[in-house]
Amino acid sequence: MARLVIVSNRVALPGEKRAGGLAVAVKAALRGRQGVWCGWSGRVTEETPAAPEIIEGRNLSYVALDLNIDDHQEYYNGFANSVLWPLLHYRVDLAEYSRADLSGYIRVNSYFADQVSKILQPDDIVWVHDYHLMRLALELRARGHDNPIGFFLHIPCPPPDILQALPKHAETLGALAAFDLVGFQTDNDTDNYGKYLETRGASPSRGGRYFEIEGRRVQIDTFPVGIETAIYARAARAAAHSPFITDLLASLGGRSLLLGVDRLDYSKGIVQRLQAFEHLLDEQPKWRGATTFLQITPKSRERAAGYKEMEDLVTALVGHINGQYGEAAWTPIRYVNRSYSRRQLAGIYRCAQAALVTPLRDGMNLVAKEFVAAQDESDPGVLVLSQFAGAAAELDGALIVNPHEKEAVSAAIGHALTMPKEERISRHARMLARISDYDVTRWAETFVARLAEARHKWSLIDGIRHIFAPRTADARRPGRRIG
Ligand code: UDP
Repeated sequence: MARLVIVSNRVALPGEKRAGGLAVAVKAALRGRQGVWCGWSGRVTEETPAAPEIIEGRNLSYVALDLNIDDHQEYYNGFANSVLWPLLHYRVDLAEYSRADLSGYIRVNSYFADQVSKILQPDDIVWVHDYHLMRLALELRARGHDNPIGFFLHIPCPPPDILQALPKHAETLGALAAFDLVGFQTDNDTDNYGKYLETRGASPSRGGRYFEIEGRRVQIDTFPVGIETAIYARAARAAAHSPFITDLLASLGGRSLLLGVDRLDYSKGIVQRLQAFEHLLDEQPKWRGATTFLQITPKSRERAAGYKEMEDLVTALVGHINGQYGEAAWTPIRYVNRSYSRRQLAGIYRCAQAALVTPLRDGMNLVAKEFVAAQDESDPGVLVLSQFAGAAAELDGALIVNPHEKEAVSAAIGHALTMPKEERISRHARMLARISDYDVTRWAETFVARLAEARHKWSLIDGIRHIFAPRTADARRPGRRIG
């Protein structure tokens, strides 16, 4: 089996706890095979970074790169998180483009390629993750590497009109065409990128998923990322009897629990969700004092555009709703700016009657899948899910809502809290079956297998083309047999 070299912005070194979905996904891809994981160490240096830290394991090695202050600012805070993140989440208005940041992005992609190039062997398969490293295949090809190189975009891909709003987009978004296989979360994302390639003169074949552009060939396809469903379900069962959960349940005093879990990010629709909850309390007074909304919101990226304003708005709205509807013995919303461990979170999911996962735009939203995995199958909670989360394409047992319509979200919350048990069980079973069957291990195996055979597929296409190609002048010469 070929060695797998994974490259992502951040690497989680042995013993380092990184609970994020990407770390779980990368570990699933590397399980049971020889591999290398290369990425930023998380350290920022004043000077030119020292040589990478290399940790050699029996099956798995790590290459951890430091970044200097300018690189970190321009590549990470700047181009990746203040330009690509908003743009790819359909928020062109929040993208703060500068040529300096683009240069930093190109420079750091080139630096990553230099380091990967040093360790790359001819038979390696390379899998690059996420929007920070879109130029990596281009840079590795320029260094003479012809390995199969794949890319997976964990966040959404908007239509070409939005992608083209990015200055010099060919140098970043267009550079994805140097990969052999580019994976997206949903068919909508894949189709959008295909249309973008066509605007750049690429010619599609085989259902619009194989493209030839500028002398290279690229496949694009959909690979919805999963979670460790069985492990998550076990963690939730175990956590259900922990003192932490016993305390939480006691504090609710028999009231139902509505749950929101999101990084503090404008893509998550927290303001709109709070407005929907306010609408529920306003329109259906029976819920006052009867349900508690716990919104868990670790802070993130506080220095990027759009975050501070949104944080202020959320804080003000929570204060307003609690002031307006709260009682001496009941607070409608518990707003918590901290992060919980995977086990604690699994336990919280399990005791919630409904989860409100209502992003305005989200690549997948792993919280939605974790909530489903964590439920008690004989008495499950209900998922209220935005149509704009990638997870909505798979989780058809959820109550699917438009997060922009507070009346509809409010009605869905009411429906969730009153849904008969039989309906809850059948909706939940459908979703659990899907995420159990297509979990993160299956996702990673599927992607790597497709990447390994990517070149082979092209030779098949060439063969088909050859059969159907118009006869050449030579072939039409009298007396020549066409076989
Ligand atoms: N998470 C966590 N502790 C918290 C809140 C969130 O470990 O207090 C995890 C959560 O379990 C999920 C991830 O953070 O795995 C969030 O992933 P998601 O795809 O929902 O959103 P993202 O933050 O990647 O946009």
